[in-house]
Amino acid sequence: MDLSDNVTTIKGVGPKKVLLLNKLNIFSVEDLIQHYPRGYQDRREVTPLSQLTNGTPALTCGKVTLIVKEYSKYNQKQILRVLVEDSLPGGETDTMEVVFFHANYLEQRFKKGDEYFFYGTPKIQWGKRQMIFPEFFTIGEQETSAEFRRILPIYPLTMGISQRELRKLVEYALNASLASEYVPQQIIEENRLCTLDFALRGIHFPEDKEMLKASKFRLIFNELYLMELGLLMMHDQNRQLRKGIQLRGVTNELVARLPFQLTAAQERVREEIEADMESGQRMNRLIQGDVGSGKTVLAAIGLYKAVASGYQGVMMAPTELLAIQHERTLRSLFDGLNGPDGNPIKIGLLSGGTKPAAKKILLQEIQNGSMQIVVGTHALLEPGVAFQRLGIVITDEQHRFGVEQRMLLNEKGDRPHIIVMTATPIPRTLAMVLFGDMDNSILNEKPQGRQEIITTVKEEIDRHDVYQFVETELKKGRQAFVITPLIEESETMDIKSTEEVYKQLKRELNNYKIGCLHGEMTRSQKDDTMRKFADGEIQLLVSTVVIEVGIDIPNATVMVVENAERFGLAQLHQLRGRVGRGVEQSYCILISRGTGNYAIERGEIMASSNDGFYIAEKDLQLRGPGEFFGTKQHGLPELKLADLTRHIKILELAKKQATRTLAQDPLLNSWDALKRKVTALFEKGTNL
Ligand code: ADP
Ligand code: MG
Repeated sequence: MDLSDNVTTIKGVGPKKVLLLNKLNIFSVEDLIQHYPRGYQDRREVTPLSQLTNGTPALTCGKVTLIVKEYSKYNQKQILRVLVEDSLPGGETDTMEVVFFHANYLEQRFKKGDEYFFYGTPKIQWGKRQMIFPEFFTIGEQETSAEFRRILPIYPLTMGISQRELRKLVEYALNASLASEYVPQQIIEENRLCTLDFALRGIHFPEDKEMLKASKFRLIFNELYLMELGLLMMHDQNRQLRKGIQLRGVTNELVARLPFQLTAAQERVREEIEADMESGQRMNRLIQGDVGSGKTVLAAIGLYKAVASGYQGVMMAPTELLAIQHERTLRSLFDGLNGPDGNPIKIGLLSGGTKPAAKKILLQEIQNGSMQIVVGTHALLEPGVAFQRLGIVITDEQHRFGVEQRMLLNEKGDRPHIIVMTATPIPRTLAMVLFGDMDNSILNEKPQGRQEIITTVKEEIDRHDVYQFVETELKKGRQAFVITPLIEESETMDIKSTEEVYKQLKRELNNYKIGCLHGEMTRSQKDDTMRKFADGEIQLLVSTVVIEVGIDIPNATVMVVENAERFGLAQLHQLRGRVGRGVEQSYCILISRGTGNYAIERGEIMASSNDGFYIAEKDLQLRGPGEFFGTKQHGLPELKLADLTRHIKILELAKKQATRTLAQDPLLNSWDALKRKVTALFEKGTNL
């Protein structure tokens, strides 16, 4: 049997079974073998009844002494009770009750006086032991050795397939096929890796903990080694083609007209950007800076430098609202400045909401080069968007885009300079993987006069007080946000919808101008609302998370988040970052209904720190790495076992070995199977 064969080639997989397997993303024999266990049950040891502990799954054994059938008094449910005992040396006995609901047919499976194995989770209360619906076998039974007295894999399942069935299929597949090595022999030997075949057996049916460990190591190494090979090849291409457009346009005039003085950190990054753009090499730079650290003005400097050198620039943002805001910001920063042709600089906005007629004209202007700066959303990635002389590409809030999307934008010109901006701190390992080929700029300083935002956690019953507090700020001439969670169609939960909160606030604060904003509004409605809020015509904005990233209203000093328990830490930090952008004291109030520990913990973390890096670290701890950065969302190949937050050592090893491999043969031509694996892995994600 070949690994690429369809699972239907396995005996016992018929038309019905195959559909179920497909549901688990199992199509080929290889998929089946790569359907790794999500956990294991150690059933090697038999725990005597007396040593069972409450809540800890265990394999135990005992003799059946009593079988009782009952009907529950209030719902007439069948209950089968089997009493089991374990005789002790002194003539005393330990006992346990085994309970099955709605399964009186099992009565025949038990015989008084016989001994059985039971695997389940014991419940021990007032000295009474109980197991509900355990797995069981008579000691002599054929299957016993396959299901008990060993470490058993536990698989992710779907309705209609049992653990036992899946185990049999995997076992069959492992025996009927042979996974051939594709990692160079030298690497396997020097790093004392176990063979691939051993590793695959070991991950499914480990004989002991050591075998499992060695197997996992090998498979994780494989995943990371392949990923690193792909990324390094990509980065290498970038480096080889490092030659870039030399841009010498002068930015002094723009900087001189800024309404503020650049911070030392901004000044440093400005120099880095300008030196890159003038070098004749292609800039490939990541700018990291916490919310409010002033990244936009750096983007403006890059764009202006390109324009002053006779080139075009483009800036992509993840939401229409942010694109609208960026366009407005650039307009005001460039107001009064002319391009090299002596005319005012032309700035355009392209988003999903751009009307067809306007879009047609805009695309023409982009193509003939008369539109010098284009700001937009994902709509920029469409094939119809073609630049005449693109000098710089900027991606804002990069964590909202995949590798693939960033690449698409970069390919819109002939090796344009690249800036990627982010407020989300990126764990070192992910940064190493994602941005291994980029230069790093860090904005570790906020503009002068900023105060720490005061964060408090409130409950439903405090809502009135919260609104009163909002009023005192509005009275002072400040502005406020009230955020409501996104509402999904099917949600029947008791969530205050944006409209409801909007209505309530209108009643409570009827002397103030209140606006409402959500994703379903048209671009001109959004545009209109944001402009009014920016101009102070609206004092209080009730909004969904559409304003989560990037929105900049320096006069806003209060951020109220309704149902805060529904937001993750990273999201709360971004939302809070919408205030505290001016010199006034700002406040963030989280209204939480969650009394769960998790909700409380998040509230406490938010209240205790304003530091994005600290919050990200906590987020990682609380949510676990899987959710924190699904590799998929970054356009990286799917990792089944490897975890970029935990397997740092293996990642470093894999990178070192991949670098060595590529030093021997940059295109992997001497390792056919390896090359095919790497290419297949990146097929969907990125273009190798
Ligand atoms: P972020 O890094 O979150 O993108 P922005 O670029 O939106 O931050 O800047 C936040 C606010 O700070 C804006 O209102 C901007 O005009 C202002 N700002 C930026 N740099 C400075 C500075 N050096 N001094 C004072 N205010 C600044
Ligand atoms: Mg920003």
